[in-house]
Amino acid sequence: MSVNPVGETEESRVAFTNETILRAWQRSGGKCECERISHNHNFRRCNKTLIWGNRGKDWMIGSWEAHHKTAVSVGGSNTLSNCEILCIDCHKTTRSYGG
Ligand SMILES: [Zn+2]
Ligand SMILES: [Zn+2]
Repeated sequence: MSVNPVGETEESRVAFTNETILRAWQRSGGKCECERISHNHNFRRCNKTLIWGNRGKDWMIGSWEAHHKTAVSVGGSNTLSNCEILCIDCHKTTRSYGG
């Protein structure tokens, strides 16, 4: 397994491999996986429809990010189980929690 030096320094944003992100995307069904109670999502899960090609393009409809459930800075890993597909709105709201 190779370590991406960029991922080490940039902490949360670029640390997942493309394969991990693709698998997480497939798991999510192309919809936001956020289930944070504080966000008051209608059906518990956000489920906002996302567009694969709009990752990180927060000015676009359907934009999203791969989010670390547990931040790398506090011991989170870059595994699929720690990867959460979030719409850009949810991702912005979770950023204050540390990645
Ligand atoms: Zn969302
Ligand atoms: Zn949310």
